[in-house]
Amino acid sequence: MASLLDVRGLTKHFPVSRTLREVARGERPVVRAVEDVTFAMDQGESVGILGESGCGKTTTGRLLLKLVEASEGTITLDGYDVRALKGPDLKRFRRHAQLVFQNPFDALNPRFTLRRSIAEPLLNAGVPKGEWDDRIAAVLKRVHLSGVSDLMEKFPHQLSGGQLQRVVLARALILEPTFIVADEPVSMLDVSVRAGILNVMREVRETMGLTAIYISHDLALVRYVAPRTIVMYLGKIVEDGPTDAVISRPLHPYARALVAAVPVPRVDQDRGALPITGMIPDARNPPSGCRFRDRCPYAVARCAEEVPALRELAPGHRAACHLL
Ligand code: SF4
Repeated sequence: MASLLDVRGLTKHFPVSRTLREVARGERPVVRAVEDVTFAMDQGESVGILGESGCGKTTTGRLLLKLVEASEGTITLDGYDVRALKGPDLKRFRRHAQLVFQNPFDALNPRFTLRRSIAEPLLNAGVPKGEWDDRIAAVLKRVHLSGVSDLMEKFPHQLSGGQLQRVVLARALILEPTFIVADEPVSMLDVSVRAGILNVMREVRETMGLTAIYISHDLALVRYVAPRTIVMYLGKIVEDGPTDAVISRPLHPYARALVAAVPVPRVDQDRGALPITGMIPDARNPPSGCRFRDRCPYAVARCAEEVPALRELAPGHRAACHLL
């Protein structure tokens, strides 16, 4: 079966302002936010991208939706050569691929009624006005908001955080996309409403057959919504495999550290914690060879000289480490 999404060698370098010394030397420094990211997804698949802040996961999501232009690599999504899209083709693509924003409090214009916010994609896509009411009613039902009276005439400040995130989800779904990227979809919400939103997202994904990427720093969230997990570190994929396997038998030392850092209910339970020290390095000057080597307790000389390839070590389970 052909993949719905095929990403190869995806790279994004952001230019940054130069110091006087860099100007004198003719250097053009860049932040290496995403480097040589390669993966594919099947139709209807759900994948979590996991990592610390600064690992490149949000930039990767935005590159896939062409909200940021890539520096190198290819992205093929549902037959579209995403990097080459422009004009009417880009507009058509936007109907198929949508972003669910992280912060519902910022995602909606405070001066617009919810009807206007939800209908905005219909307006931009040129959907006839006569179809709007039916489509809005259908999407509100999908996100379990159809029972709230006078909802459409309210303004964002009149809703709770959980209701607002459902509105944001409704807006992303109203054009019936085939692919969504949800960037930390519940991180701004109270713990008490997170599960409800995640349940709605999971139900919507299953009933609409959506292909979805969930971006998060939260292993528990990824485990809840995605059967497959990609772990990123400093712009690169270090592990990619079935979520159960990544959690129960993580291969890469960084993935093992992430899993070991998750709190467990019993204080006497030995998680075989793998301590890592230090901070994520500066993406302007990442370490040579393996980018994790400054923090890796197993690093050897080869790790500084050679970039470890992302290799399949078990069926559907890849990792990038010289020692595996
Ligand atoms: Fe550690 Fe070397 Fe493996 Fe990188 S390649 S994770 S530094 S052992």
